[in-house]
Parts: sequence; structure tokens; C-alpha cells
Amino acid sequence: MNLILLGAPGAGKGTQAEVICKALNIPAISTGNILREAIKNQTPLGMEAKTYMDGGKLVPDEIVINILKERLQADDCKNGFILDGFPRTVPQAEALDQMNVRIDRVVDIEVADEKITARLSGRRVCESCGASYHTQYKPSKVEGVCDACGGKTVQRKDDHPDTVKERLRVYHEQTEPLIDYYTKAGKLVVVEGQEEVADTTALTLKAVEA
Ligand code: ADP
Ligand code: ZN
Repeated sequence: MNLILLGAPGAGKGTQAEVICKALNIPAISTGNILREAIKNQTPLGMEAKTYMDGGKLVPDEIVINILKERLQADDCKNGFILDGFPRTVPQAEALDQMNVRIDRVVDIEVADEKITARLSGRRVCESCGASYHTQYKPSKVEGVCDACGGKTVQRKDDHPDTVKERLRVYHEQTEPLIDYYTKAGKLVVVEGQEEVADTTALTLKAVEA
């Protein structure tokens, strides 16, 4: 199964991607995580991406398209994959179509803007493995420590309120058109984000297993 997860920043794409990854045993590919890893390792790609990301802007299409193209060639993608955070623009979706990758389903996780800011302010990510947590909705067992790897969990720089506003603006302007794009392709399934993560998870699993 080849899946795309769509949704605003903070809609819970990463959390849902982890759930599907375990349920279907296919890798979750997060362009955001790949870019953050590049920043951590101070690669030329990371240095370039950082300025965009810190400002809440999208990294240029050409860069992320190349990252994804390479990632999809890895062996672990043979039985399927979940794309978390790609595509984010219509040109990225078109590039994916041109790669001759069949997409089975696009799950759009919908959460109202008002809820996004609160969610993002409580979000924490593991510095080492990228796992995501939330101080309120999905706390790690020990505060500040990743359940999965024991790494340190931190707040992302772009989860600062001003940057969140810009990310939402960018989402509505550049990513939301993809809802129309994949509706027309007959692939869109909408999942309403719930108060409780477990409830959203149940809906997501239903959407991909049905
Ligand atoms: P979120 O969905 O919470 O915004 P991500 O980790 O998916 O977080 O992305 C973080 C940042 O990485 C984005 O704000 C953007 O700058 C960059 N990024 C990730 N994926 C893409 C993409 N497909 N196209 C352009 N920029 C991207
Ligand atoms: Zn970790």
C-alpha cells in the first residue's frame, strides 16, 4: 500500500504515520525528519533548508523532490510506504505522478486552525530518532526522554507561535490545493482529527484498512 498523509502542521500526521507504519509494516517517510537530520549533521542541504524551515517557509520544490526520489528507491519501499509531509505543493504532487509511483490512497487529517496553535506549543520531538510527543495528548513516560530510544525530547524551533502562524498561512496557500487535486484523482479519504489521539488513530486505521 502506497499512502500519502495530508494535513496542516500540527494535525498529527507524524503520529498517525507511526501508527500505520506499525500496523501495515511499511516505512513512514517524513521529508521534515530527513531535512531536520540534514540540519543536525550540518550538510550543505541542511544549511540551505534551515533558513526556510526556521522562517516557516517551504523548502524549494526541487530540493524536496530530489530527496524523495532518492528515498523511494530504497529497498524498504518495495512493499509500500507512507509519505508524511510530501507532497506539500501541486508541483510536488505532479512530480510524484511523473515518477510513476502509484498512490493508493491519500488520507487528509483535518483539524481546525484554532486547535493547531495549542497543539504545536505542546509538541516535543526526539532529537535522536525524530519520534513525536505532546505534553498533553501524548506525553513520553519520563518527561524530556524519548520512550523509543532514550534520547532527549525538545521543542522544535518552528513551533514558536509566530512561525506557526506563517506555517498555517503557507499551508492554506500552497498545500490545501492538494485536497482538490487528490479528490479529482479519486484518492482522498478525510479523517476528522479527534480530541483523543487514540480516537484519531482508530479512524485512520479504518481509512487505510477498509
Ligand atoms: P509540520 O507538518 O508539522 O509542518 P514537517 O516536519 O512535516 O512539520 O515539516 C517541517 C518543515 O520542513 C516545513 O515547515 C518545511 O519548511 C519543510 N518541509 C518538509 N516537507 C516539505 C516539503 N514536502 N516541501 C517543502 N518543505 C518541506
Ligand atoms: Zn527517540
